[in-house]
Amino acid sequence: MTQRKTTPGAGDLIQPGEVWLVGAGPGDPDLLTRKAERLLNGCDVVFHDALVGEGVLALIPDGVRLVHVGKRSGRHSKDQKTIDMLIVEAALSGQRVVRLKGGDPAIFARATEEIAACRAAGVTIRICPGITAASAAAAELGISLTLRGLARRLTFVTAHARKGERLDLDWKVLADPKATLAIYMGKAAAEEVSRQLMAHGLAGATPVAIVENASLPDARIFTGRLDLLTIMVKTAIGDGPALLLIGEAAGQAVPTLRDAALAHSAA
Ligand code: SAH
Repeated sequence: MTQRKTTPGAGDLIQPGEVWLVGAGPGDPDLLTRKAERLLNGCDVVFHDALVGEGVLALIPDGVRLVHVGKRSGRHSKDQKTIDMLIVEAALSGQRVVRLKGGDPAIFARATEEIAACRAAGVTIRICPGITAASAAAAELGISLTLRGLARRLTFVTAHARKGERLDLDWKVLADPKATLAIYMGKAAAEEVSRQLMAHGLAGATPVAIVENASLPDARIFTGRLDLLTIMVKTAIGDGPALLLIGEAAGQAVPTLRDAALAHSAA
């Protein structure tokens, strides 16, 4: 028998043979929900992604088995089918399973496949939401993602394309000056994003903000304009996950010193 710290009621939430898809939030362990913490305390095994913050992983009790199934660590990543299989097998063997994903598990997190795999195997799967990167980025910038009259729509977009494929996005719809675009996985495609949005009518002067490592101690923010997005991403952003915000809402952020230098050099 392994000894583990228990939170009151933790055992009631997660039953043997069940899977919980849990949002780990953007990285700061204080942004984990209380429910997520209870689930982490009451489970037998956690399958986690690379984006789950170190501070969150540190909260997991010693007796819980931790399985890294992410892609960023330089280790060979497990493909989605293997992950689905591991989760289902663990549940069928009677373990209490937590599948821990960065941010919110329902946003760009391949949750569909895992939900389907569990259902197909007759395994109960439940979801505990988490704080998504766009919310953490807005908090880091000290801005609202929506603005009365100016940004009535908030669009979550992924700019991730399969290798060699172009982005399949409806640029006409996205190039809306009255919307805020929150772009996930957008670093590699920054050049195409800015070019297409401008080609479809969004002004080059549209405000943009980039937040790297939102909610973590090494968070960095950059603000600028759409026609400078590519240079901002290339010169200012490091290896951490970064969220791009485009639209008038991003313009509410206080400019960073680096932006001033970039704007100066582009003038
Ligand atoms: N389910 C996650 C998103 C996973 S996609 C969520 O709800 O947040 C991964 C992308 O999320 C990254 O490429 C980056 O664009 C964004 N992201 C995740 N964590 C972040 C963080 N701490 N700071 C900035 N962007 C982050």
